[in-house]
Amino acid sequence: MNIPAEIRALHADMQRWRRHIHQHPETAFKETATARLIAGQLQQAGIEVHQGLAKTGIVGVLRRGSGNNSIALRADMDALYIQEQNRFEHASCHDGKMHACGHDGHCAMLLGAASYLAKYGRFDGTVYFIFQPAEECRAGAYQMINEGLFEQFPAQRVFGMHNFPDIPVGHFAVKSGPMMASFDCFAITLKGQATHAAMPHLGNDVLVAAAHLITQLQTIVSRRIDPADAAVVSVTQVHGGNTWNALPDSAVIRGTFRSFKNSVCEQLEHGIRHLAESTAQSFGIRADIHFNPDNPGYPVTLNSPAETAGAIRAATAVAGEQCVNTAPTPSMGAEDFAFMLQQKPGCYIWIGNGSSQGSCLLHNPNYDFNDEILPLGATYWVRLVENELPEYSSLDFGKLLKD
Ligand SMILES: [Zn+2]
Ligand SMILES: [Zn+2]
Repeated sequence: MNIPAEIRALHADMQRWRRHIHQHPETAFKETATARLIAGQLQQAGIEVHQGLAKTGIVGVLRRGSGNNSIALRADMDALYIQEQNRFEHASCHDGKMHACGHDGHCAMLLGAASYLAKYGRFDGTVYFIFQPAEECRAGAYQMINEGLFEQFPAQRVFGMHNFPDIPVGHFAVKSGPMMASFDCFAITLKGQATHAAMPHLGNDVLVAAAHLITQLQTIVSRRIDPADAAVVSVTQVHGGNTWNALPDSAVIRGTFRSFKNSVCEQLEHGIRHLAESTAQSFGIRADIHFNPDNPGYPVTLNSPAETAGAIRAATAVAGEQCVNTAPTPSMGAEDFAFMLQQKPGCYIWIGNGSSQGSCLLHNPNYDFNDEILPLGATYWVRLVENELPEYSSLDFGKLLKD
């Protein structure tokens, strides 16, 4: 692995920031202490800091030379509503909240890269360091964009990175095209007629209808979607009834659906609506259907070819060719960085968090970002900036040669 001594020297600082953020997790749009720590470190490194986009978002701006090229590097800051089960010293001290997705590590790696670039960076152009709130289900990226992110900070290209527990330490994985699936939610309220449990014929039972509907929904992917396309429909919540001897007048079914293509998303949405309405009708009840009732759905995370080539070049410079998987299987998980990729060409890469025995997956109450990979991630960012914003363009080289 090819890590500059100056970044190795930042390892202890990055670990300290990472563990502090892990110990003090903050959820969507409430990342105020996390933002304070980040803004403080950026300022200390001499980087221009802008706060307030999407409440807690931060953008650091670092300019060098006279070039007009620019790139944005993005880290997410939020934690999850999960009760941490780890017992180590830096375990969460906020009840019911934890960094189970490794966003603590994302912040620390980008801060490390920013500190290095401010001091030693050899590049020509502008780097925007985006620290984004509310990645988990709340579409913080979407909100930053809506509040003028790319008008105020007109990056030409945008790059993201996520730790990945299935990939060994020292390895990266990235590919052009879809990396992560789209993410949409549905909520179906079935409305019938309440009645005594002993006299079901006097009402309209929503619970039996709900049971049928849940089974029906399983047929969308198996019977309606081209088997060559990836898709998933999962019912994740069922609510209805509150006693032993009465049938309720309503039941709620909620869930999510995902795919890698917009056309498949539309088919899934159509299938859910059609089955909810027709099942309700067959039971003589009503179905109210809402898609993405709380937040916008997440689009497919789609890497553009040229920027992916740049990401592969940077990852290879850090880890060596054998340790960069350029054909990973895309994940059915979703990522709101996809909104940024809708605005700008760019690339989202996975960095291996290690797969030691007993290691758990993201969103597990025992998850912990691996501090060992902090310098790797920071070096990836640095290589990316120095490759993508070269100090001397070919034009300058021509001029230099002539001079
Ligand atoms: Zn997550
Ligand atoms: Zn995440």
